[in-house]
Amino acid sequence: MGERREAGLKRGRGDPPGDADRLRALPAVHELAAELDAPHAVAVAAARRAIAQARAALSAGELPVDGLEQRLLRQARAALAELTGPSLRRVLNATGVIVHTNLGRAPLAAAAREAVARAAAGYSNLELELAGGARGSRHRHVERLLCELTGAEAAMVVNNGAGAVLLAVAALAGPGRGVVVSRGQLVEIGGGFRIPEVVAQSGSELIEVGTTNRTRTRDFERALAAAPGEVGAILRVHQSNFRTLGFVEQAPLAELCGLGAAVIDDVGSGVLANASGILALGEEPSIKESIRAGAALVCCSGDKLLGGPQAGLLMGGAGAVGAALEHPLARALRIDKLSLAALEATLRLYREPARAREQIPVLAMLDASDRVLSTRAELIRAAIGPEAELIRATAKVGGGALPLTELEGPAVALVSSADPAALAGALRAGDPPVIARIHDGRVLLDPRTLTDEEAQLVAAAAARAVADARAG
Ligand SMILES: *Cc1c(COP(=O)(O)O)cnc(C)c1O
Repeated sequence: MGERREAGLKRGRGDPPGDADRLRALPAVHELAAELDAPHAVAVAAARRAIAQARAALSAGELPVDGLEQRLLRQARAALAELTGPSLRRVLNATGVIVHTNLGRAPLAAAAREAVARAAAGYSNLELELAGGARGSRHRHVERLLCELTGAEAAMVVNNGAGAVLLAVAALAGPGRGVVVSRGQLVEIGGGFRIPEVVAQSGSELIEVGTTNRTRTRDFERALAAAPGEVGAILRVHQSNFRTLGFVEQAPLAELCGLGAAVIDDVGSGVLANASGILALGEEPSIKESIRAGAALVCCSGDKLLGGPQAGLLMGGAGAVGAALEHPLARALRIDKLSLAALEATLRLYREPARAREQIPVLAMLDASDRVLSTRAELIRAAIGPEAELIRATAKVGGGALPLTELEGPAVALVSSADPAALAGALRAGDPPVIARIHDGRVLLDPRTLTDEEAQLVAAAAARAVADARAG
């Protein structure tokens, strides 16, 4: 401490450095900014941020004056990278949660990515009939495919699943009309989507029937009889992210469709036919079956198990879809051309179930064989060395679908002595960031949500993070 340390900057005589000296050792913002290779304004912002961090650390006595200059430059460069780099970045999902809303839900199939690039690069016939030159509808690009895949008479798409449900309720019920919902289905999906609030936003009146655990067709019948002509629709909502077990009963959809009121079926994730033949999907409601049962409108998300872009699909009878198309909300909720391009390409893949299963990433991940997963896991384990071991773990579907399904498979557990939260933080701080999960006090890397190429990147990143942790 007695030794005088120059941080390359002026300080008054006398040692050891007191608080004032320590703070005076910091360079001026413009001096530090001059060291950065960047446009003036960002360089200044980065330098200011680094100096503020150092000032806080020095005041707290957490930073030796020794080596301050190098440290400041490093921090200023990190701040610069953050300020100039994109905010929305690619990350590697090693959580094993396939449809992870925080990580952007479904990765797109190659065909969908190419369609997006084509639509983005130039003009398109988004709303133009090429044959006659008249104005066309953007829904036309997916309507025929959706009808073909689900048996619906008509279809349209909006911005997301929540929008599809709001539009369906507003179009079939709306101000002055009632929407009948079972008390067991007044659910919250997450991200602020709550059925009673959605019904309220549509201007409709919520008519609750039944109980939390049991609702029968007779309950709906009574509600319709009590308010003849005033009920716009019956809304059935899939309990996406939870299950009720035991003494439970819900009215079958086919019976509800026979009561005379239009039925909206919000299936949430939605399985597009079970053409893909993936066993786990069998427990999610099938859109085709809802259409066959006679639902007026079936709503689902584009980016959950369907494996496409963010979108909300509405499929059903021509009259109901027409009412939704004409409702003013349809314009406010309309899908953009890039999502539409991705959706069309994704839906095309469903025409050949085997191809869908192979090329749509969400389906491929659900369907991944133990052999493929083990190869990826072993690659990661080997790169890290003795501080990693192969274990059996369970991945999740996520996205509020199949909450009880556990996808068993291999995973890599980090057995480093480092604090697991710190290790997970170091992985997130890497480039590209790796998102791991912590289970039983250990950091787990799950190969199910990685491609082969991504597994190699995770292997290198994890090896670095573990080595850094070892080095302290
Ligand atoms: C996910 C979900 C929604 C909302 O769909 P988003 O695409 O997330 O807007 C609505 N209803 C149900 C039943 C869902 O599972």
